[in-house]
Amino acid sequence: MHQIQERLNDVLQRIRDAERDFSRAQGSVKLLAVSKTRPSQDIRQAAAAGQKRFGENRLQEALEKIRQLADCDLEWHFIGRVQSNKTRAIAEHFHWLHSLDSIKNARRLSTQRPDTLAPLKVCLQINVSGETSKGGFRLEEAQEASELISNLPGLELCGLMAIPAPAETLAEQRRPFRVLRELREELARPDMPLSTLSMGMTDDLEAAIAEGATIVRVGTAIFGPRL
Ligand SMILES: *Cc1c(COP(=O)(O)O)cnc(C)c1O
Repeated sequence: MHQIQERLNDVLQRIRDAERDFSRAQGSVKLLAVSKTRPSQDIRQAAAAGQKRFGENRLQEALEKIRQLADCDLEWHFIGRVQSNKTRAIAEHFHWLHSLDSIKNARRLSTQRPDTLAPLKVCLQINVSGETSKGGFRLEEAQEASELISNLPGLELCGLMAIPAPAETLAEQRRPFRVLRELREELARPDMPLSTLSMGMTDDLEAAIAEGATIVRVGTAIFGPRL
């Protein structure tokens, strides 16, 4: 078996183990394979092993791969910083955006989403550690932002996403993920269930699953160190 396929199986096993260890329903956590910096050939290998969702954070690089892999029927997730002048390409080429962090860009994406496509699925990125350098809505901005964005016709607000600062122990890793889970519980309503929690990467996916992650975004553990 190819190395990427072996690593992919290892990551899927880690996810299943964490679901069991933290009393999560089996299969409730989805894997987003973060393929940034990796060539299309690597993505093709992961796709051959059954992986369908791929995450990219640089637009030009992503568009190139989307074109090269058009025959594979993959689901593309944008996870990088959104620049206003790039919203049209995101609206036209992606299924998901995890890192929505401004109302202005939300309105642009909604207007620019082609009518022929289903609404773009989005998560609000939340700055859970309060670091000014990090992207994301502040916790106190989240309610207003979620209500506004849930009303935009070109977008489907699916949930929340965070990229906490790295931490060493499981307990420390869980803390910011718990903040995101509690925010979700606070904001969710019958007409806005916010069922997606996009959190957890190679080094902290167990902590994220313990706190309710529904999508983990994993790069290094599948594809090896970044190129
Ligand atoms: C790169 C990246 C990941 C994956 O990180 P790994 O540590 O390689 O698993 C997840 N989320 C975002 C937003 C990223 O930019």
